[in-house]
Amino acid sequence: MIVTVDGPSGTGKSTVSKAVASRAGLPHLDTGAFYRAATLAALREAIDLADADAAVAVVGEISLDQDSGRMFLDGKDVSSEIRGDRVTEAVSQISSHPEVRRILVNHQRSWVAEHESRAVVEGRDTGSVVFPDATLKIYLDARPEVRAKRRARQVGDNPDDVIRDLARRDLLDSTREASPLIVPDGAVIVDTSDLAFDEVVERVLSLISAKS
Ligand code: C5P
Repeated sequence: MIVTVDGPSGTGKSTVSKAVASRAGLPHLDTGAFYRAATLAALREAIDLADADAAVAVVGEISLDQDSGRMFLDGKDVSSEIRGDRVTEAVSQISSHPEVRRILVNHQRSWVAEHESRAVVEGRDTGSVVFPDATLKIYLDARPEVRAKRRARQVGDNPDDVIRDLARRDLLDSTREASPLIVPDGAVIVDTSDLAFDEVVERVLSLISAKS
């Protein structure tokens, strides 16, 4: 049972997939945290983020793991650091390099294989690239203003700044050549704009039950 949950930020992807995983008794994998940890490693090495070879040299050497919702880079818990502004600003650039993506996708597939191939996997290419044969693919969406409001509440920022950051990242993530954010083949689209959190979780759980 592999359930993929893709979609842009501010759709509730992270909270929904964690709740679904917990209720369904499945491990949860946040693939965005891998891109963030790889970006943190690149920033620490002060490489030119546009330099694909330099990025691959850094990302190919690091060890990455996720355990109980915590992200580990070279054995150290970097869960808080990877949510900082510097990483958030740089992550779309690192994740645009195809070879970096290949390395991180391999890490993600290994993680799921080590968890008996049972997981709720969230991200932006999990149903299209990482697990194209997933048991169930969900694509969460929401209207831009709803996403910005949710995101601002989460990070406590000014909504106008958040709208700008979302629009910038959406554009980079959906127009990059390597694995752009798309609705994966066969995905069920759930628009969360007018749904309560519990309603979204229940809807996904009922889709999982239908597959079990
Ligand atoms: O989900 P989160 O906001 O933590 O993701 C951070 C960034 O990582 C995204 O903006 C995107 O550039 C990248 N990402 C990706 N593919 C994934 C997950 C995240 O390119 N599967």
